[in-house]
Amino acid sequence: MRLVIIGGGPAGNQAATDAARLGVDVTLIERDIVGGAANLRDCVPSKAMIATGGAMADLQRIAGMGITGATGTLDLDALRARIAGITSHLEAANRRILESQQVELLTGEGRLSGPHTVVATTTEGERTIHADAVLLSTGSRPRLPAWANPDGERILTTRDAYPPAELPEHLVVIGSGVTGVEFVHMFSSLGCQVSLVVSREQVLPRKDPEVAAVLEEDFLRRGVRLLKGARAVAAERNGDTVTVTCDDGRAVTGSHALLAIGSIPNSEGLGLDRAGVEVDAGGYVPINHHGQTNVPHIYAAGDLSGKLPLSSVAAMQGRKIAEHVVGGHSVAHRHLNYDKAASAIFTEPEIADVGLAEADAFAEGRKIRVTKVPFAANARAVIDNDPRGFVKIISDPATGVILGGSIVGRHAAELISVIAVAVTAGLRVSDIVESMLVHPALAEALADAAE
Ligand SMILES: Cc1cc2nc3c(=O)[nH]c(=O)nc-3n(C[C@H](O)[C@H](O)[C@H](O)COP(=O)(O)OP(=O)(O)OC[C@H]3O[C@@H](n4cnc5c(N)ncnc54)[C@H](O)[C@@H]3O)c2cc1C
Repeated sequence: MRLVIIGGGPAGNQAATDAARLGVDVTLIERDIVGGAANLRDCVPSKAMIATGGAMADLQRIAGMGITGATGTLDLDALRARIAGITSHLEAANRRILESQQVELLTGEGRLSGPHTVVATTTEGERTIHADAVLLSTGSRPRLPAWANPDGERILTTRDAYPPAELPEHLVVIGSGVTGVEFVHMFSSLGCQVSLVVSREQVLPRKDPEVAAVLEEDFLRRGVRLLKGARAVAAERNGDTVTVTCDDGRAVTGSHALLAIGSIPNSEGLGLDRAGVEVDAGGYVPINHHGQTNVPHIYAAGDLSGKLPLSSVAAMQGRKIAEHVVGGHSVAHRHLNYDKAASAIFTEPEIADVGLAEADAFAEGRKIRVTKVPFAANARAVIDNDPRGFVKIISDPATGVILGGSIVGRHAAELISVIAVAVTAGLRVSDIVESMLVHPALAEALADAAE
């Protein structure tokens, strides 16, 4: 049994290692970076930039903890070198894992030439490989609008920004979804003036308004200018400035503009038509709950599948597909439930949620119990001099089963794991309340919220 995987991001890598461990012969074709272009050229560098901004913010946090005189100056070259180091460290780690599982790794471009044949174009030429099963995990890339011409200097896509050649004096971020707000946070915490074009009346339009309000408050405190209810229709460079014009006639001029308007799938040139694989109008490859496309032995995963665009979800899809390829995926509970995926926004404070959202429950007319406690009442948050935010737990009032939750605050991305496990395992609020947790710890707020 040979599985050929095109694209070595979180989806392809996880499927490759798991399938190889299960005894499948695996060939993985990657054209750029083992670990994934979206993952290692966007997700990880963006978090590394945010970590540096967080360290700068820590200088202010510790000022209230009996430490005076701590200052820091950003060294852009050192930051650039650090990010390059993180990326190459993770790529090498990925390669080692694949090699240890005897996965055949080809550096080059992959495409289907028929339902059971994949062509790999490498520096050594073309090779046609017979495949019993194929996984398409080619990921996505930043979406570019017709009204802007990114030049990598002043008009940036996300991938030009880790960090740009010079720190923007005034950055105009276009797009207020998860990526947009992370960039606002990233650059404002590095000392840049930032304006944000928000197409709706709230940043993070799909999030709980209470959660979005905490973030907006933080942005306004930092002096971020919010242009609400406006869609960008042009971004024009004029020497050292960029002017972003909105559909309501407003315009904002900064030193740089950054496009954070989503991504598009890498589905062209993959030979999908040669194998009869369907794509939807957006270029995504639809899959069933096993990860199969309309051609049963051809799977798709990760951003290409148009499900949740998260590295964690991509890797889990890869894991499930590896099991399905070897026929071990028959049990119903092994199917992925995307509604139970935890996600985080790495802003200050951090925002994380999982499972059922309060607004969705109300929209469905579903009875829920919502309990919420602020971190201001949590000893550890006060000791750490950062008592912002809250924990909210949503449960079934009849059974006490935990259906979802949101956390805004320090280490929210870590803390949400407890609620994620509870949601996946069907735990009740009493299971958290009766767990004997550490004191003083931020996690105590979870038990308080569950009570
Ligand atoms: C700015 C930003 C921040 C993000 N932050 C987070 C975050 O905090 N947490 C999170 O979970 N997710 C985050 N994501 C999303 C995450 O990066 C993606 O969801 C994830 O990387 C998708 O994995 P993938 O395997 O589908 O694709 P990728 O990681 O893109 O990997 C696909 C690979 O396929 C290769 N490829 C494409 N076509 C071919 C071909 N024809 N032949 C050979 N190789 C090919 C590409 O080179 C690439 O390496 C972020 C994304 C962005 C843009």
